[in-house]
Amino acid sequence: MILVADLETVATLVLEEADIQSRIAEMGDALTRDFYQRDPVFVVMLSGSVPFAADLLRCVKTTCEIDFMGLNRFGESGRVGVTLDTSTPLFDRHVVIVEDIVDTGLTLKVLRTMMLDRGAQSVSTVALLDKHRRRMADVPIEYRGFEVGDEFLVGYGLDWKGKFRNLRSLWAVLDLDLLEQQAGVMGRAVAG
Ligand code: 5GP
Repeated sequence: MILVADLETVATLVLEEADIQSRIAEMGDALTRDFYQRDPVFVVMLSGSVPFAADLLRCVKTTCEIDFMGLNRFGESGRVGVTLDTSTPLFDRHVVIVEDIVDTGLTLKVLRTMMLDRGAQSVSTVALLDKHRRRMADVPIEYRGFEVGDEFLVGYGLDWKGKFRNLRSLWAVLDLDLLEQQAGVMGRAVAG
């Protein structure tokens, strides 16, 4: 007999849409204040940061440019491959990296170095989520939304096997095996 799991046994709500949006508005205000009339370039990390960037950058009330970058990280060596590069010249610009979540910090460390090597005048990071306890690389996060625990998170840009990025809220997966067997149980979360 196959038992049908319910949502609560597979995942638990970590952040509601309203909490995410009100924190994002605050972060947008801080970025507006710090980059007012400095023509920053926001470099949005694909794919997880897209929902966050779309909401955040509409709360930034100064002229800016937006570009995208895709990276693959290979294990814990800190080695990364570029899957999509920016097209905006970054020399002498104020670059703000937009990240969904910083975990070990290895990706962000490489990214900051890349931006500085391209001659950016300043590099800072805005990250919605910070798994601070898992940090391996010492990297600053100038603008941080929420500190979160060690759980595997999905929703609001974060995926499980490419799915659930479109959720408006953020969930922690309680049982990855159960999710594997019965991914459909997330339907209620997907429907919002
Ligand atoms: P780091 O180099 O900081 O270890 O890796 C950061 C990347 O790992 C994030 O951009 C994200 O793609 C992925 N990541 C870290 N924690 C989570 C998580 O809880 N859920 C998901 N879906 N991805 C995560």
